[in-house]
This record gives sequence, C-alpha cells and structure tokens, in this order.
Amino acid sequence: MKKEHGFETKVIHGGYDSKDFLGSLTTPLFQTSTFTFDSAEQGEMRFAGKEDGYIYSRLGNPTVKALEDRIAQLEEGEAGLAFGSGMAAVSAVLIALTKANDHILCSRGVYGCTFGLLTMLEEKYNIQTDFSDMKTAEQIRSLIKPETSCIYIETPINPTMDLIDLELVSTVAKEYNIPVVVDNTFCSPYLQKPLTKGCDVVLHSATKYIGGHGDVVAGLLVGKQEFIQEVAMTTQKDIGGIISPFDAWLLLRGLKTLPVRLDRHCQNAEKIVAYLKDHSAVDKVYFPGDATNPDYDIMKKQMKQGGGLISFEIKGGKEEAQYILNQLRFIKTAVSLGDTETLIQHPATMTHSVVPEETRRRMGITDQLVRLSVGLEAWEDIWEDLKYALDQVTSANIQK
Ligand SMILES: *Cc1c(COP(=O)(O)O)cnc(C)c1O
Repeated sequence: MKKEHGFETKVIHGGYDSKDFLGSLTTPLFQTSTFTFDSAEQGEMRFAGKEDGYIYSRLGNPTVKALEDRIAQLEEGEAGLAFGSGMAAVSAVLIALTKANDHILCSRGVYGCTFGLLTMLEEKYNIQTDFSDMKTAEQIRSLIKPETSCIYIETPINPTMDLIDLELVSTVAKEYNIPVVVDNTFCSPYLQKPLTKGCDVVLHSATKYIGGHGDVVAGLLVGKQEFIQEVAMTTQKDIGGIISPFDAWLLLRGLKTLPVRLDRHCQNAEKIVAYLKDHSAVDKVYFPGDATNPDYDIMKKQMKQGGGLISFEIKGGKEEAQYILNQLRFIKTAVSLGDTETLIQHPATMTHSVVPEETRRRMGITDQLVRLSVGLEAWEDIWEDLKYALDQVTSANIQK
C-alpha cells in the first residue's frame, strides 16, 4: 500500500484530485443551490439513495465535500461535515447526542456561546450539565450518571489555558460507553488530534486557525462515518446550519498554509510569553507551552507545540485591563483568534460576558484577565506595542 502522505501534504491535496475536475489546480467553487437530473427516474434514484450524486446544496455540494474530506483526513477520522459557524457544529452535535432529561459532563470552562447553549438545553429540555476540571479518573467517574449521554471538552480551556488529559477522559468514558466530544478550535489538527487519543468526535470553529485570515465564519465536525451520516441527515439537514460553497472554498485555501502559519503563531507566542512574564505590570501569564504551567506534562503528551494564544492577568482590575487595550497602537481589540493580525480582548466583558459572574469566577475568568491571539507580524513589533501599553499602565494613575 502507498505510504500515507504527511500532514503538510494532506492540507494541500487531501480530498481533492484535479483529474476529477477538468484539471483545475484549485478546487472549483460550485456556487449553485441545486443540481439538475438527467431524467425523472434519476431524481427518484438519488432521493432513494440508490444512486450517488448531488441533489441540492443543503444536502451536499462538491466544494463543501472536498473540505469535509480534507478535514477528516487531517483529524484522522472517518468522515467530516461542514457548518455555517462553529456554533452550528456545536449545537448540531449536542442536539444529536442528547434528549430531554439527559446529563452532560463538561470541561470547567467552555466557549461563552457553548455555555449559553448548555443553559438553554437545561431550561428547555432539563438537560443538566456538570462542569469539572477532569483531573483524575475517580473525579470523572464520580460525576457520571446513568443519564450521562455525552462528555464535552475544550482543551486548552478558553481563556484560562488549563488543559484536560484527552487520553484519561476517553479511557474512563469507554468504561461507560459515553461519547467524548472535543472542541479543538484552539489547536487545529496541526497541534492536537483528539481522535488519535481515543475521543469520538472533534469539532472546530473554522473561523479561527483553519480559515486563518479573519474573513470567514464556519464550523467543522469529524467523527465515525455512521455518526457523521446521522448528523448530516438529521440535525444538519433539518436544522440547516450549512456552510456556503464560497466559505468552504476560502477554508480549503486557508488550510493549505495551516502548518506554516501555526509554526509562526507558536514561535511568536513563545517570545511574547518570555517578555510578558518579566514585565512589572503583569501578574500571571497562562500559556500551555510554558514549562512552569501546572499542565505542562499534559501539553507534552497531546500537543505538538504550545499554541498561539496567551492569557495574562494585569495587576489591578477591569479599569487597568481596559486601559491597556486602549493604549495599543497596532494590536487590535477584537474577539476571535487565529488570524494573521494580533488580537486582544477582555473575556469578562466580551467573550464570557454571558456567563454569570459567580460562574465566571469559578472558571478563573477574573476582571484583570486579558487574552491575546498572537498574530503573524514581527514578534518584536508585537512586543513593542504591548510593552508600550504595559509601561503606560504602570505609570498611569487610573481613576477608580
Ligand atoms: C469561536 C469559537 C466557537 C464558536 O465558533 P463560531 O465560528 O464563532 O460560531 C466555539 N468554540 C471555540 C473554542 C471558539 O473559539
């Protein structure tokens, strides 16, 4: 058998063969809502599933299919599915895996809107969620109930950068036959492949590192063929959160440079962390790739590098955090992450403002915490801008 291609080759060639598309080097954009049948009988066969072929773009589209096949190869899963946003992927998976009165075991921190969705599932369908840092097998076992139908994880956890040991969780989950879902947005498959650690389903906000250029909102899902088919035919087809062919085309383009971009994101982040830790205005720095991080051995086990995201606490509170954001000159204040531009945000008042204050504190999201998505600019420039803002806050007399 032919040796399997390396990751750097699969991001470029996976899921697409130019021979199938008149020799077009890049994947053609099938910007069409529907597909014509040669005859009424052919239409009947396609709807009956007795003949392969496209019907209507909510059910499948060749540009989207190339993306789905490529992400499945990159995550080393059987099949992929694309969505119009990361949240469309999150909601399709959670709705597919749960029914009224079920229970979900979730990592201590999750993306703000995922938290909002879990709250809605509880209010509408009495689906209870327990949050845990999942540090030991005993702790995980003690939280599993007969009605637990899914374990849902983010690692690194947004925005505090705690890690969860994927192998530990998937081993315990197998004892109970409970599927483990991982939101792999912060790493992308280049840095972490949860399916290879025994997890069952992996999803992404492709808006972030996978697109990589801040120009598309999209989601991706990878898992076993049977599960993906079920989601495609139920929560995706009937709820309808599909991706547009053009956005799929942009993601196919973005993916080609994923390893090259991420190497630079990670290198830049390491440089910035070293300087941040030494600045007198900074209290704590949270970065998975930092050897003093309590979860460093988990990072070594499951991540290729430390990633491009850094959270840090400023000495002071909300005013100081906001003051720093306002002093920056080219670093942009914006949510989202994984773009070429360095972005900074204040989780307590932005991405996690929907989380009640008490829960937010338990999640470790203090008022003085800021999150930095390190971009691809010269690291010296990124540091110079940050240092300028941090120096200002040290000398400023902020009105409380
Ligand atoms: C952005 C994000 C999401 C939601 O994705 P959208 O594409 O904005 O819908 C989910 N999880 C994580 C970790 C994210 O960063």
